[in-house]
Amino acid sequence: MLKYLNIVTNWTCNSCCTTCFLWKFIEKNPEKLLSLKNYENLFKSKSLKKLASIYFTGGEPTLNKNFVNILKLAKKHLPKTALSYTTNGVSPKLTLKQIDELAKLNIYPHISLSLNGLEKIHDQSRGIKGNFKRLLYLNKELQKRNIKTFFNLTIFPFNIEQIIPSYNLAEKLQTPINLELCRNDKRYNFQGKKYLFTKKAKQKIIASLKKISKNHEMILASYLFVKKYFKEKNFYFDCIALKKTIYIDPYGAVFPCDGFLKSMKVSNIKRKNFDEIIGSRRFKKLKSLIEKKRCQPCKFTCEIKMSMKENRRKKRKKFLIW
Ligand code: SF4
Ligand code: SF4
Repeated sequence: MLKYLNIVTNWTCNSCCTTCFLWKFIEKNPEKLLSLKNYENLFKSKSLKKLASIYFTGGEPTLNKNFVNILKLAKKHLPKTALSYTTNGVSPKLTLKQIDELAKLNIYPHISLSLNGLEKIHDQSRGIKGNFKRLLYLNKELQKRNIKTFFNLTIFPFNIEQIIPSYNLAEKLQTPINLELCRNDKRYNFQGKKYLFTKKAKQKIIASLKKISKNHEMILASYLFVKKYFKEKNFYFDCIALKKTIYIDPYGAVFPCDGFLKSMKVSNIKRKNFDEIIGSRRFKKLKSLIEKKRCQPCKFTCEIKMSMKENRRKKRKKFLIW
């Protein structure tokens, strides 16, 4: 049963990160983006009735001109499903305007704020002077509005030393922090850069995460993942893609994971009803390939971590029932 739906609302972005090319992307065919009708049909799907959460991402999802209406539709048809999204904090005014509009309908999404470290490193790597201050301002304003926020720090070779200071900042601001590991694929190989960690860097990351993981479920998940991932040359795991998670791109294409690999495209919700897609032969075939680990070893670190976390939760639940 699907538990987590991830939707990329648009690939466009208003940041200038040194680590990702998406801000260079220009949407040439905005008419091809999913319409509100497409979203409404999706949220009405029977196979999503027990969904735990929908996560909206991008690009920068708040730039989608229908963003507020998309969330309204999600809440209307899936009232029990938690809604969350990520933002880079480049336009706090826009985010706050959207949040205030949603609050009028009692919609309070959780918001992930992308952080690369303290001010100097954050602004340098995000390519926007003043972004750090804007991000903290946004966090403060969202907290005033009772919106649950958390920082999301992606670990690159250039910000390893920022892990502990960022954690301390998050503690000071009473905001949880999640840590992800950068991945080496098209998305992050901006200008051909490869993000490789030396042995010493890996040790440093593990030590830093160990130090701050006590009593922090999200950080513990990162620590356990990184420790295992760095140790094994070819890392194999029980992937939850298509079992519990699924991704939809801005044009309606359905994928198992955020690798958005063309070879693993399931179908498109513009052409086929979502429930039909879930029951299709193609879906079942891909699900079986994933279960057999045919697409591994893979480099989609967020997905690996998410799967490990979910599988641990399942094991714990089983143990408690016994
Ligand atoms: S990392 Fe995020 S904020 Fe930065 S350019 Fe890419 S999509 Fe935009
Ligand atoms: S194993 Fe990797 S490539 Fe295959 S579905 Fe899972 S995350 Fe995607």
